[in-house]
Amino acid sequence: MSRFYVTNAIAYVNGDPHLGHALEFVQTDVLARHRRLRGDDVRYLSGTDENALKNVQAAAAAGLAAAQFVAARSDLFERLRDPLALSYDDFIRTSADPRHRPGVERLWRACADAGDLELRAYRGRYCGGCEAFLDEADLVDGVCPEHGRPPEPVEERNWFFRLSRHAEALETAIGSGALAVEPEHRRNEVLAVLRSGLADFSVSRPRERAGGWGIPVPGDPSQVIYVWFDALANYVTALGYGNRGADYARWWGDADERLHVVGKGITRFHALYWPAILRSAGEPLPTRILVHDYVTVDGRKLSKSLGNAADPTALAARYGTDALRWWVVRDVPRSGDADFREEQLGRRANELADGLGNLVSRTLSLAVRGGENRSNWHRWGAPIGSVSDPGLAAAIRAVPTSVDAGLARFDLRAAADAVWGAVEEANRFVSARRPWELEGEARAAVLTDALRACAAIAAEIGPFLPGGAGRIAAALESGDPAAARRLFPKAV
Ligand SMILES: [Zn+2]
Repeated sequence: MSRFYVTNAIAYVNGDPHLGHALEFVQTDVLARHRRLRGDDVRYLSGTDENALKNVQAAAAAGLAAAQFVAARSDLFERLRDPLALSYDDFIRTSADPRHRPGVERLWRACADAGDLELRAYRGRYCGGCEAFLDEADLVDGVCPEHGRPPEPVEERNWFFRLSRHAEALETAIGSGALAVEPEHRRNEVLAVLRSGLADFSVSRPRERAGGWGIPVPGDPSQVIYVWFDALANYVTALGYGNRGADYARWWGDADERLHVVGKGITRFHALYWPAILRSAGEPLPTRILVHDYVTVDGRKLSKSLGNAADPTALAARYGTDALRWWVVRDVPRSGDADFREEQLGRRANELADGLGNLVSRTLSLAVRGGENRSNWHRWGAPIGSVSDPGLAAAIRAVPTSVDAGLARFDLRAAADAVWGAVEEANRFVSARRPWELEGEARAAVLTDALRACAAIAAEIGPFLPGGAGRIAAALESGDPAAARRLFPKAV
């Protein structure tokens, strides 16, 4: 059994939940559920990033206190839990969680003690969207490629983190795979940034520019801690790093894997800044950073103007949570942007109904009608080897290995395709053996095999479709064909 700590990036609350969040949260949830299924000790952290200056401005525009504003915004993200069937164990809010501030302060002091924090006059070009100073190399035609506008000139005194001191160690960690950055082209991008030379980065801003919002710099209340230092720290503050609690030792210090799932736009912060901060503080680095690409909708980048078209809650209400999760795992490639079109959800819903729902439903109906001994088939999680037909048994037996291999390389699509291959094989088995034309032992043998295949498939598909898998398990357990007919709703 290994101990596995996994996080998605905390959501930036000054924007609505959209399909891009659903993509990242479902991907992370699949990894967490899969490891739990394999018997690993798993902790999955989610949360919201709330200490940004933009929240103060947006709250003022809405006539609300910043704390009130971010609480309401955070709630929108926390409420994705049900429609997306997320299984996170913890949800941290960086402005309100009492564990966060002491952890950030401790991390700051540790970096200061290491000589990595320095007060400097700084003149730079700042993108309010990124909340970061951008270099010439970051710009495309003079504008921020993420936000499409030129960064503003800013001159002020800031605390700086001496990132350059860590360049060699980071290159060793990433180059050796001790800190894996995947897919490989992302790792190569990070190594290229490293080799082009790392600039020290600003980790504070004047208190007045921050509108009094955020965590004051320990020992220098004229400055607040700049959002990236604050936000990245959530991965350890949620574990009680501030008081070196038992959770911190268990899930960070002593974990076998410390894994962050992030979007491509924030790779550098996770693969360079965050490990450098940890290294400075004398703490272990993450072991893996998995980078996903973006979702476009009807060929367009996600933005506020797309409105409901990309609202995961509305899409789950219309097509079902299973269909939405199935789209994430079946239609999103391991690398490259995924273009979402609503009709794809209908197709995925119908694929589940016609392929998996129908397999379970027809098998169970035939079994109940034939009076097969329930004790043969209702045992949830019966040994996969107990399917006696050699061809079907081999197909079922191959699934866990293929799922493990796919998820190990962050290829959710390959993993889901492997499970689906077994669904198709089981359907072919039932169609070819025609149990409705058989009697007695011959009939019971085919249906018992088919039911055991259904149980095995439900177990393996559980991390992808926890709701649907649970309904299949319940239908097999109860032997109720009516329940089996309602497993997956068809799209209209
Ligand atoms: Zn930007």
